Amino acid sequence: MARDYGEYFNIAYIEPESHIYGPGKRFVIWVQGCSLACKGCWNQQMWSEKPKKLLHREVLLEAILATEGIQGVTLLGGEPLEQQINLVWLLGNIREKSDLTIFVFTGYEVDEIERLGAYDDLQKLCDMIAIGRYRQSYRNVDQQWIGSSNQTVMYPNGSREKEQSQKMNQVEIIIDDNASLSITGFPDDDLVKTLMD
Ligand code: SF4
Repeated sequence: MARDYGEYFNIAYIEPESHIYGPGKRFVIWVQGCSLACKGCWNQQMWSEKPKKLLHREVLLEAILATEGIQGVTLLGGEPLEQQINLVWLLGNIREKSDLTIFVFTGYEVDEIERLGAYDDLQKLCDMIAIGRYRQSYRNVDQQWIGSSNQTVMYPNGSREKEQSQKMNQVEIIIDDNASLSITGFPDDDLVKTLMD
């Protein structure tokens, strides 16, 4: 289901320097809005399609290109393919104007991506694609970049990234200037409790 925000992305959160959503240091964008409603989803606050932070795609592109020392860009959410037109525009411009590698996480399966008409674009523009619904019964916190073992990481022909998903669980703890703490990744329940107590 595609949402129409014109030339604006509906954004949930941006972390300009993260180390756990793909190889190296990456500019990470969580889009707002996902209709897939996976049971046990860690980011349910990102399901609503109501505008959270509307950011013009040119502004987002400039912010990415102005960030020094990153290896790539990662988009997740939320569901990036539900903002498909702007997604393809952004990826195409990143490819054209930089050497940054591109990693997109989608909850859609391959046949659904084909039906959306996005498969060829993702193959052409992405270096890595994490594919498939989060399935709680297959929850796996021991595999880098995916949350359940049914999900796969695809490396399209022409991918510039060679680093394969490892058996490990990565969690990132970010303390902002106001000393508030956020945790990203797939922390197990005990870790969350320890940090939040
Ligand atoms: S696709 Fe991702 S964001 Fe959407 S419900 Fe599933 S796990 Fe949550």
